[in-house]
Amino acid sequence: MRIPLVDLKIQYAGLENDMQAAVKQVFANGNYILGAKVTEFEKRFGELSGVKHMMGCSCGTSAIFLALQACGIKPGDEVIVPANTFIATAEAVSLIGAKPVFVDCEEETGLMDATKLSALINAKTKAIIPVHLYGQICDMDAIIAIARPKGIKVIEDSAQAHLATYKGRKAGSIGDMATFSFFPGKNLGAYGDAGAVSTQDDALAKQVKTYRNHGRESKYAHDQVGFNFRMDELQAAFLGVKLNHIEKWTASRRRIAARYREKLQGTGDIRFFRENSGNEAVYHLFVIRSAKREAIGAHLKEMGVDTGVHYPLPLHLQPAYQFLGYSKGAFPVSEKHASEMLSLPVYPEMTDEQVDYVCGQIQAFFKAAK
Ligand SMILES: *Cc1c(COP(=O)(O)O)cnc(C)c1O
Repeated sequence: MRIPLVDLKIQYAGLENDMQAAVKQVFANGNYILGAKVTEFEKRFGELSGVKHMMGCSCGTSAIFLALQACGIKPGDEVIVPANTFIATAEAVSLIGAKPVFVDCEEETGLMDATKLSALINAKTKAIIPVHLYGQICDMDAIIAIARPKGIKVIEDSAQAHLATYKGRKAGSIGDMATFSFFPGKNLGAYGDAGAVSTQDDALAKQVKTYRNHGRESKYAHDQVGFNFRMDELQAAFLGVKLNHIEKWTASRRRIAARYREKLQGTGDIRFFRENSGNEAVYHLFVIRSAKREAIGAHLKEMGVDTGVHYPLPLHLQPAYQFLGYSKGAFPVSEKHASEMLSLPVYPEMTDEQVDYVCGQIQAFFKAAK
């Protein structure tokens, strides 16, 4: 058996006719950027996410940049981001000229540790970016309770959490703003780069809409210096097709995660991240933890199963961020997780038989290790 970490080709095979039809429609419409398909996708995904404004853009990284810009984040400001996330979360902060300030994660969930925020806040702190890592929403009530009284904006990085829920609310509808990535491998993925910014606030939405399109008020009236962060019609059309399936795919990811938990419970030293009560995570990734991470990964590779590590080095230890002056030991939980995490295959088309094969190989590994 050969099981990849994600399989985008098998998904495309089931969507081919609809995708070809979408391409034909876009070419026939003759409008290729920020047209009717983008508007339609924004409306539908915005409704599903429970937000007033959903605004398509060029990728998840530019979405974070746009949200920070709309929130008025400036050079010299500080923005708190988790130490364990994809680097894009911090890059957008750096690109705007602000300083990323890292925070450790919770032992049990791997998500931003809200109890560690207050100690990091000072007069320069202007925003916090909780990342709904692996598809689970952070402790938003706790984060907002700390941020709001101080006038600090909360921007949800929902790149891995499309339609995840927290106490009945959807990812992207809880903070002041939120960002999404539609990178092909994400739960809702385009066939190229794409992203979105969401907010319930009309003024913030207006700022994003003009900034993503050269600061335009109308064609040649530029209210401010903006940039080109627009979404393509083709990507929006592809995303529109996938939106018809996303809820079914999410249910499938949850089925796979539940099966992994059930089958791997008590196997060797394996531990899972907890799904908080009140949350419905969407399992962009299914992450296990073990001191034998490297050996398990090597064994699975040999048996035809791909795995990944998300992420092997916390951001404060990345060469790119050495200039911030953090040292090893600064964020012990993130550092320990980084040495123990292993992402197992999860994609909606994965069968129970495939999940069982992965689990069987992990059990065989621990039997042989005894
Ligand atoms: C994928 C990802 C991004 C960046 O999205 P792109 O579309 O690749 O620019 C940002 N944050 C997180 C947590 C991600 O997983």
